[in-house]
Amino acid sequence: MYAFTYDRPASLAEAAKLVQAGGQALAGGQTMLASMKQRLMQPEKLVDLSRVSELSGVRKEGDQLVVGAMTKHCDVEQNALVKQHIPALAALAGGIGDRQVRAMGTLGGSVANNDPAACYPSAVMALGATIHTTTRKIAADDFFLGMYATALQEGELITAVSFPIPKRASYAKFKQGASRFAMVGVFVADTAQGPRVAVTGAANGVFRHAGLEAALANKFAPESVAGVSIDASGLNSDIHASSEYRAQLIKVQTRRAVQEALG
Ligand SMILES: Cc1cc2nc3c(=O)[nH]c(=O)nc-3n(C[C@H](O)[C@H](O)[C@H](O)COP(=O)(O)OP(=O)(O)OC[C@H]3O[C@@H](n4cnc5c(N)ncnc54)[C@H](O)[C@@H]3O)c2cc1C
Repeated sequence: MYAFTYDRPASLAEAAKLVQAGGQALAGGQTMLASMKQRLMQPEKLVDLSRVSELSGVRKEGDQLVVGAMTKHCDVEQNALVKQHIPALAALAGGIGDRQVRAMGTLGGSVANNDPAACYPSAVMALGATIHTTTRKIAADDFFLGMYATALQEGELITAVSFPIPKRASYAKFKQGASRFAMVGVFVADTAQGPRVAVTGAANGVFRHAGLEAALANKFAPESVAGVSIDASGLNSDIHASSEYRAQLIKVQTRRAVQEALG
């Protein structure tokens, strides 16, 4: 390791100040510690958010669930409000990585990191969620900017994500066997504005699929997916799967998600 300073503030105000002064947020360290060990990241000032209690927990505000940025995956998985109002989100959190990752990894860390195969970005996008930061609110459609890139600016911390409660939703993930990230994951949400379909794992970042959304708006049923063509150009092709295979998986996973959402 190399030299860095370490702060563990106890309030959001203090954490925001430290991050504005050039500190890098440390959530559960599930990505960051490995990246630091490999010298992919070399922050000089670490700001550990684990003592900032304002950043954890779930509350219901009108027709939305507001989940704090430091809420761990295992807590989203087990939270009674999430299970009652957006069970697909609880199931998604329960399917992330393994028990240790779920015990340490956080919603804010996952969304800020924007790994192209991460699960949460697809839920944030499909549910039309809003990312709350220390300075503003950002719509999901404007937040994810491709591989590991987001609209977050230097000195800005995610404080929470608010998820509108959908009529029904489901997430169907085809796991990459070794990492357990999504080879292809599809989150389908039937929202007040119509169906939204977000795909993760298939390209250089999460994206919505207009053709699938239009087909499901016509009829929210598994068979609606059959006639939709998925363009394989631009999809990932690697040792795990070709772009054509991923294109086919998008259809299969969408069909599964719709079936599951219908119960
Ligand atoms: C073995 C393994 C398997 C995994 N499998 C999956 C999977 O199946 N699906 C999946 O979705 N994910 C998976 N993950 C990722 C995991 O879910 C973590 O959420 C992710 O690694 C981020 O970790 P973290 O929350 O501890 O954030 P950290 O590693 O602490 O931080 C990650 C990045 O986010 C920034 N950050 C953290 N919090 C904030 C904040 N509040 N505001 C602004 N920036 C912030 C940090 O500065 C850093 O750049 C896996 C990880 C591992 C190690």
